[in-house]
Amino acid sequence: MKYIGAHVSASGGVQNAPLNAEKIGAKAFALFTKNQRQWKAKSLTDEAIEGFKANIEHVGIALEHVLPHDSYLINLGHPETEGLEKSRAAFIDEMQRCEQLGLKLLNFHPGATLRKIGEEESLDRVSESINIALEQTEGVTAVIENTAGQGSTLGYRFEQLARIIDGVEDKSRVGVCLDTCHTFVSGYDLRTSDACEQTFGEFERIVGFNYLRGMHLNDSKPDLGTRVDRHHSLGQGKIGWDAFRYIMRDPRFDDIPMVLETIDDTIWREEIQALYQFSTE
Ligand SMILES: [Zn+2]
Ligand SMILES: [Zn+2]
Repeated sequence: MKYIGAHVSASGGVQNAPLNAEKIGAKAFALFTKNQRQWKAKSLTDEAIEGFKANIEHVGIALEHVLPHDSYLINLGHPETEGLEKSRAAFIDEMQRCEQLGLKLLNFHPGATLRKIGEEESLDRVSESINIALEQTEGVTAVIENTAGQGSTLGYRFEQLARIIDGVEDKSRVGVCLDTCHTFVSGYDLRTSDACEQTFGEFERIVGFNYLRGMHLNDSKPDLGTRVDRHHSLGQGKIGWDAFRYIMRDPRFDDIPMVLETIDDTIWREEIQALYQFSTE
C-alpha cells in the first residue's frame, strides 16, 4: 500500500502537524520538530509531546509513516572541526526529539565539502557522524536524502549514498530517501517509464531498495542534470506525470512515507488524490 502526504506546518507546536496532515487527506507527512533555520531550540514540552501522540492517533496516521526533516544548518560532512562538532551535536538533538515523539525516522541532507576537503573524505565524515548519533540514541533510523548536487553538497550520486551506508556500523538503522526532483536534476532521467526503469534499476544495483525508507515527490523547474534545486507542482515541471504514475504502480515503493514538497500547498489535496488514483488504477 502507498502512504502519501506532504511536508506540513508545525507552526504553533509539533502537535499541530498531524491535524494539518489530516486536512489534506494525507496518510503520511513530514515536519520540522524545531525551527529549521536556527541552531538552538527549546526542548519539546510535555504538552507538545502528549499533544502530538494524541493527535496522530486521532487522525490514524502510523508513527512509521512520519518522515521528520532536520535543520538545513547541519553539515555532517563539515570540513572543519568546529562546524563538524556543532553539526553532530545538533543532529543528536534532532534524533532525541524524534525519540521523544515516538518517531522512527529522521531525514537529512548528507552534507557539503564547502570545497575545503575531498568528496570521499567528507562522505566518510558523514558515516562517522551517523555512527556517533546512532550510538547515543535508540529506535530512530538515519535517512539520508539524495541531493540536487547544488554547490558543494554531497549525495547527488547513488554511489555516494552507498559509500555513506558502507561506513555505517549498524546497517539496520540507516536508510535512504529519494527526492524525485533531486534525482532528476542530478542527472537521472525520470521522464518516461523506460527512463524510470533504468534509473530505479541503477538505484537497486548501487544502493538497494532494502534501504529505501521514504520518498519526496516533487516535479522540477530546472531541466535534467542542471544540479539546481527548484521544486515544482506535480505534472507542471520538467519531469511530468509519467514518473509519478510509474512510482505509484510499483510495489517497491510500498509501505514507506511519500511526501510532497511541491510549491503550491493549496493544491496538495488534489495532488495526493491524483497519486492515490494512480495507485489503484
Ligand atoms: Zn526533499
Ligand atoms: Zn529540494
